[in-house]
Amino acid sequence: MNDLEISQAVSRVLSKYTKTAPQAAVQSAPEPVVLPKQDSIEAIVASVLAGRVNQQRPDTSPSAGEGAFATMDEAITAAQQAQIQYRHCSMQDRASFVEGIRKLFLQEEVLQAISRMAVEETGMGNCVDKLVKNRVAAQKTPGVEDLATGALSGDGGLTLTEYSAYGVIGSITPTTNPTETIINNAIGMLAAGNTVVFSPHPRSRNVSLYCVALINQQLARLGAPANLVVTVLTPSIDNTNALIGDPRVNMLVATGGPAIVKTVMSSGKKAIGAGAGNPPAVVDETANIEKAARDIINGCSFDNNLPCVAEKEVIVVNEVADYLIHCMKKSGALLLCDKQQIQQLQSLVLNDKGTGPNTAFVGKDARYILQKIGISAPEEVKVILIETERDHPFVVHELMMPILPVVRVENVDEAIELAIKVEHGNRHTAMMHSTNVEKLTKMARLIQTTIFVKNGPSYAGLGVGGEGHATFTIAGPTGEGLTSARSFARNRRCVMVEALNIR
Ligand code: NAD
Repeated sequence: MNDLEISQAVSRVLSKYTKTAPQAAVQSAPEPVVLPKQDSIEAIVASVLAGRVNQQRPDTSPSAGEGAFATMDEAITAAQQAQIQYRHCSMQDRASFVEGIRKLFLQEEVLQAISRMAVEETGMGNCVDKLVKNRVAAQKTPGVEDLATGALSGDGGLTLTEYSAYGVIGSITPTTNPTETIINNAIGMLAAGNTVVFSPHPRSRNVSLYCVALINQQLARLGAPANLVVTVLTPSIDNTNALIGDPRVNMLVATGGPAIVKTVMSSGKKAIGAGAGNPPAVVDETANIEKAARDIINGCSFDNNLPCVAEKEVIVVNEVADYLIHCMKKSGALLLCDKQQIQQLQSLVLNDKGTGPNTAFVGKDARYILQKIGISAPEEVKVILIETERDHPFVVHELMMPILPVVRVENVDEAIELAIKVEHGNRHTAMMHSTNVEKLTKMARLIQTTIFVKNGPSYAGLGVGGEGHATFTIAGPTGEGLTSARSFARNRRCVMVEALNIR
């Protein structure tokens, strides 16, 4: 394959996720969701939520709130009542609710609206890539089929092992993937028989409430019990803490940074923590350098580097470093060499102490960031490339913006060693571009990340262009890995003694 063919193949894979999705998996065909025609986000939110979620007149009756409640207490009460009703639903019911949510979010106008709203409200990421992420969440999050029953039969009888609901799950969602996480968690948690109380990031309040309202409308159309998926009208840290502390909540799932992961893990409840990463991309001398460059730039710039899996630093073997940089420039990177400009950039995008990102620049696009240091970059620039030392703050800290530090090393073993160091034991994600099977195996074994992508962009690990299901809750700290319905279920054994075995 030549360069052009590879580039066309990459575009084809991505375009699959930006076109109308195949609907084969969808069973029922409920009424399409009618979206408001107005352009402004305020108008969309207002018309969907107003009159249904009324802060002045909070109404917690099952039919009125469309999932948003004035207080966390009311939201949990509703989810708990819904859980009691949900237990009477059949597996077929569950499957139909899940497929209804898929179908809802695979509608082009819904995808467009939530992607646009998320970018406008949070000021982070870009619509084109959010569309891809939302689509893959709706399409490739496993449903009830994920809950495979185990059976053991013998002289002693028949023993079944089944995945059973936890009950009420508190799901704390991030600002970086607000809608993707709600779609993904709602599908997986409902498939496993749970009801869900979402506590979204306050910075993505409107779009999160909008998604919850849409889900409630769709579930109502399908005849589901009310309030299977709920949230609060005013998401806040206090509300999240109320959710964490409420004894009626049986399981906590936190998708976010280290603070919230630590909090849920110390809660005394069953908790799933999906935390921060700092994914390195290692390139050795045996790699297809042109392809590695393209993959790294595509992965790093995806949704302006917001995904926790996205390439955050490159570690390259000296022998091929110049050529890799040359190819990355051809693939949409702008190499910043001027020391003063690099210093300016550093002061701009790091926080005051230099210990992490300045949140004002998280998820911004490369040209916007460059503009702030007086550089007007052409449209094709997607990533800002800088050659740095290995202990530079850009290498060490998770920035979540399309700034890519490149560190040269002598050989692949040194590259692997450094990659392990800068990943900080997050056990999150790493990439390696190499055709040396021995070294690929070595890095995979030593770095111990939940996702290890070989010769591809980071998003292949999320199911975009790679095999495997999609998730937006990657639980490294608590070990569930790429979560799916079964991660949100308890394992239960049911034993029939000396009967029902038929051999
Ligand atoms: P964040 O930690 O600021 O917020 C995540 C959620 O936790 C929000 O709902 C927020 O309101 C809440 N929260 C944060 N600190 C809290 C506290 N002390 N008490 C109570 N609630 C608290 O994260 P973010 O900026 O929204 O998202 C980006 C971070 O999340 C990055 O570190 C990224 O790597 C990580 N992330 C991880 C995954 C994964 O699957 N592992 C997915 C997406 C994002």
